[in-house]
Amino acid sequence: MFIRAIRHPGLRPLLLSLALLPAAGIADTLDANLGFDREFGERFLEEYWQRNPDAAIAEGYYRVAERLAVPDAAYRAEYLRFLDQWRARLHAVDPRRLDPSHRADWAVLDNALACERWQWRSLREWQWNPATYNVASAFALLLNTPYAPLDQRLRTVSARLAAVPAYYRAARANIHDPTREHTELAIEQNRGALSVFGPELEKQLAGSGLSAQERAVFLDRLYDARNAIRGHVAWLEALERKRLRHGARSFRLGRGLYEEKFACDNPGSDGAQALYRRAQAEKERVLARMDALARQLWPKYLNAETLPEDRETRIARVIEKISERHTTPQHYVAAVEALIPQLEHWVTSHDLIDLDPSRPLQVRVTPPYERGVAVAGIEAPGPYDPTARTYFNVDPLDDLSPAQAESFLREYNDWMLPIFIIHEAIPGHYVQLLYANKSPSKIKSVFGNGSMIEGWAVYSERMMMESGYGGGAPELWLMYWKWYLRSVTNTLLDYGVHTQGMSEDAALHLLTREAFQSRKEAVGKWRRVQLSSVQLTRYFAGFSEIYRFREARRQKLGDAFSLKRFNERFLSYGSAPVATIEALMEEAPN
Ligand code: ZN
Ligand code: ZN
Repeated sequence: MFIRAIRHPGLRPLLLSLALLPAAGIADTLDANLGFDREFGERFLEEYWQRNPDAAIAEGYYRVAERLAVPDAAYRAEYLRFLDQWRARLHAVDPRRLDPSHRADWAVLDNALACERWQWRSLREWQWNPATYNVASAFALLLNTPYAPLDQRLRTVSARLAAVPAYYRAARANIHDPTREHTELAIEQNRGALSVFGPELEKQLAGSGLSAQERAVFLDRLYDARNAIRGHVAWLEALERKRLRHGARSFRLGRGLYEEKFACDNPGSDGAQALYRRAQAEKERVLARMDALARQLWPKYLNAETLPEDRETRIARVIEKISERHTTPQHYVAAVEALIPQLEHWVTSHDLIDLDPSRPLQVRVTPPYERGVAVAGIEAPGPYDPTARTYFNVDPLDDLSPAQAESFLREYNDWMLPIFIIHEAIPGHYVQLLYANKSPSKIKSVFGNGSMIEGWAVYSERMMMESGYGGGAPELWLMYWKWYLRSVTNTLLDYGVHTQGMSEDAALHLLTREAFQSRKEAVGKWRRVQLSSVQLTRYFAGFSEIYRFREARRQKLGDAFSLKRFNERFLSYGSAPVATIEALMEEAPN
């Protein structure tokens, strides 16, 4: 179905059929919803986790944790049968008989099944991306998450350790014409994997209540697993040396696969190329606004200096100057903590969106074993985790050298820090999650739409600025545009690199000169864009769809439009694609 959507961009056959037909009777709908939940929310997902035990563990579903799926040809063939069978079952359900939230589930699942099929058959990352093979993270989760007593978890680990050698044998049979970049990543990450199976684990085992017999079996399997990983790394290294001599597959996806992958991420949108063109125009608009602000702020901050002729130099100089206002390493966590109630008060008192006062967001210093992944962010329980508590983790700056801390704090200066917390927490990711949890749907939680999720966070920043947050200070606006420009240039970079052959030099120029990013950040982005595709477009793709929809809705409803009602209703369907939410909202009276 999504392939059809690609060939006829602009047409939305599925979404229209969802929206325009008459609703069924209420009792009928209730029955249909319950039936749908049982069949797809429970039975389908159980079968899905059987085939994806690593993903299940990451979601907090441990019933299949003893199993390690060996990704061989038989597994693939069976998986494709499984997808087709469930898609047929899904299409036997008439979505018109479901309520709006379940209709959104129906659409999300339909897209997920079609896109997984496309990944196996067309994208074929299982062949060219060796980094898809790594057993470490699920094992680490089982060992570090106290979901059950240690002895029980060690028995689970022992069971799945037995399959590690077969897992890597299957990986080697699959890998064909890989890219150099993904091969290097696979070498690096599988080397890192060894740390999960090191002396620490042997110590844990020695201190456990497992019998001598169980321990002996465990150790045998552990040594075999270590050897399997070492052997696999050596094989990859030999492959890489050969590849370097003979030339390897390009990491660039190419236009055809790119558009199809984009359509999977953004069902019902008008395509990647259209988004790219919007991003190009948007970049120019934003730079013009930034220049006006830079000129306005120049006398206040840089009066003694001559105004540079070059637009980007002017903007960069003012950004550099106002970045000097920032907190200290000692006060950083407290500064984040203080922002949360302030933002909560703002969104409520300005009628932007209601929050749930019974579920306040808990700020905490990131636990040591989770640090270094992100600067700060929401840690929310998966749909199967009974400890339903959401944290806002903040990495403390203690481990940084004074120079590193200074550079970090200049980036997250007094103007930027609130924008960042708006994105991550209020009314960004945390609030979106809060609303999604009100209509609990395992399907939307497991197959949630990345563009909707990131797009909402980016949209929420704009909404806060429009509401007058920060008193409209030109410094705040300048920082806001810099932050927003990152979303826009992520799209330009991703599309440019994967479909137009954009060079490393051109990429670094775009990011440092035209988006005012540090050299370090730009180099990190260049690495990320070589290893991923389409993902970087989510911020701008989701934002521009949400914003366009909101403005169209405002136009249509005139005086009857309420921003608060729009926001709350938009979030009430859970993490469904923007176009699906739009179709469902258009069906409702206002
Ligand atoms: Zn400083
Ligand atoms: Zn985000």
